[in-house]
Amino acid sequence: MVDILSAHVAFLLFESIFCLISAVLCALKNSQEKKARVVVTLLNIMAGALLLCDFVEYIFHGRPGAIASFVMYSSNLMVFLLCDLFLIVIDIYLSIVIFGEFSFRKDAKCRRRNFLCFLISGIGMLLVVISHFTGLYYTIDGTNKYHRGDYFYVSVIIAMLGMAIIFSILIQYRKKMQKYRFLALLSYILLPLIGFIYQLLFFGFAYMDIGIALSVNILFVENIVYQNKQIIKAERTDLRTGLPNEQSCIEWLEERRGQPELLKHAVVFFDISRISSINRKYGPETGSRVLKSFAGSFAEEFPKEEFLGHLQGDQFVAIVQKDHLPDLLSKLTDLKVKFTDDTGRDHESRLPVTAGVYEIKKGDHNGEDILTFAATALEQAKAGTGHPIVYMTKELMDSIEEKRRFEAKIRKGLDEGEFVPYYQPKVNSRTKVLCGAEALARWNHKGEVINPSSFIHIMEMNESICELDMYMLRTICKDISSWLEQGLQIPPISINFSRRNLADPDLAKKIDEIVTESGVPKELIEIEITETMDEFPISVMKEFVDDLRRRGFCSSIDDFGSANSSMAVLREISFDTMKIDKGFIDRDFSKDLTILNHIIKMAQSIGLTIVAEGVEQENQIKTLNSFGAEIIQGYYYDRPMPKDQMVERIKNPCYDK
Ligand code: C2E
Ligand code: CA
Ligand code: CA
Repeated sequence: MVDILSAHVAFLLFESIFCLISAVLCALKNSQEKKARVVVTLLNIMAGALLLCDFVEYIFHGRPGAIASFVMYSSNLMVFLLCDLFLIVIDIYLSIVIFGEFSFRKDAKCRRRNFLCFLISGIGMLLVVISHFTGLYYTIDGTNKYHRGDYFYVSVIIAMLGMAIIFSILIQYRKKMQKYRFLALLSYILLPLIGFIYQLLFFGFAYMDIGIALSVNILFVENIVYQNKQIIKAERTDLRTGLPNEQSCIEWLEERRGQPELLKHAVVFFDISRISSINRKYGPETGSRVLKSFAGSFAEEFPKEEFLGHLQGDQFVAIVQKDHLPDLLSKLTDLKVKFTDDTGRDHESRLPVTAGVYEIKKGDHNGEDILTFAATALEQAKAGTGHPIVYMTKELMDSIEEKRRFEAKIRKGLDEGEFVPYYQPKVNSRTKVLCGAEALARWNHKGEVINPSSFIHIMEMNESICELDMYMLRTICKDISSWLEQGLQIPPISINFSRRNLADPDLAKKIDEIVTESGVPKELIEIEITETMDEFPISVMKEFVDDLRRRGFCSSIDDFGSANSSMAVLREISFDTMKIDKGFIDRDFSKDLTILNHIIKMAQSIGLTIVAEGVEQENQIKTLNSFGAEIIQGYYYDRPMPKDQMVERIKNPCYDK
């Protein structure tokens, strides 16, 4: 049989090691606030040291010799000192857990009790030192055996007084902490206290040590559980706003899956894109502040049983009762924020919102699907439908499905080479001779020739336009090569490049490689591009055009005179040609014509060649000629035509009208 005293001593050793290990773990973990971490580490070190001292004392108890005597005295001193010091450290820890800090400032909570606790602890330690020399609390006899002194009970009473004060603080502010943290701290006070009382009544075992050891164990377990909870919470929280994230939203929906209550809800996916522009204009810190303050104030008013989350960037999701939907939507359409920028200036800004709404129905599958429906409605709202709020309906779902199928067909058409260039001649209207052509894509699908209006927009949206443009360039180069081989006199051919391509900084290089590889002289290729104010800064377009020029290519600005054109682009970027949009040519009011006249004059004076597009009537040519614009591209001369017809036109470049 193991004798009980040995077991007790072994327990002390085991627990002291445990306390020291948990001190190391506490010091290393970074989830807790720094101040609390330091104090818990200290608490564990002190508990470990106390248990170790008591362990050593038991080992040397009753052993002869000066060393044993020294060890007995010093470890006893340490044990008594640490018991009093504990009061201070637990008191500080409690303040940090409850109030976030410990201080003796005038306005600090529990200031008097903290002060009293420190005083008791100080007096306690002083008495321990006095007792060390006078034997008040304990004596060590000649055989190095420990005996309680006549005033031992004073040491216990002092410690109990301190504990009582700490206990009163803990009970008063118990609501300020989570239940398990409260229970763990309570055990940290009660268990040693019970140990103390036991120790007073019974002699032979370090009951108080057992109490401390057990409470360190409990606090350790609580800490691990708390930490795990924090990790789980962090996984489900968006760090920037502190709102629940997408994962959390899906779980919210999943938890209620199949419940009739869920059918009373609608999901609103909304996007506050203006926050990004605040980001760009006033710097990311201001943007973050605006995002946080919006999220904070919006969340404050949000009913607890509903859901508000932040997904990424400027996107939020709200799950609300259908009855509350009109309220939420009207709030969203009139959002404003006040903020201060980094220079301290105050601003007030409207936050236009686009939103996708999905009303949850019976038979809806899972949280992810529900979220996707709302997200798809938002995509539609953002795709320039003109409506900032789009409801996901059966019809919309069908049309999206239809669009997806069409996209897949386009994709297949691209892979199988169904796209071909048509060529539309450009004619010098004075000499009536072919002077160039624009290549325009056509989709040969199942015997039908499909015009760009059916596919360009879709390809722009899903970015496959970049592939089409490169594919067109390769095919056009092949056509020109074969014409050159036939000894034909080829005029420059212009090729459309969508603005989407500008995302690629190597665009000019890639164009150069394709043309060079085909052996087509660079002066026969002109790159047409519409201006890009909405998507990229002018500098991006300028860099591209400059790069093209350095490599020996000409470029033209397409559709000048349509909605987006601006003079800034003409001033900043050195295009070779300006193409005047059909919309401008079609207007025949005198005011419009005066503007057209001046634009042509201005463009020519900065060295641009003018090409007028969409010309269908003779009188338009006369007007354009009178303004000094000679090069005409339009149905008046020719429609876009397939390769073979273009060959004939190249062979007969003169027009008779
Ligand atoms: P765009 O670059 O402005 O091309 C001129 C469009 O005006 C062509 O339409 C052409 O057929 C049409 N057009 C020319 N003269 C007249 C006229 O006298 N009257 C009328 N009513 N229309 C005329 P298309 O070929 O349907 O192309 C439409 C747009 O699709 C093009 O406008 C261009 O923005 C885009 N596109 C065509 N092919 C490509 C391509 O390979 N890549 C890219 N990125 N875009 C392309
Ligand atoms: Ca064009
Ligand atoms: Ca054009």
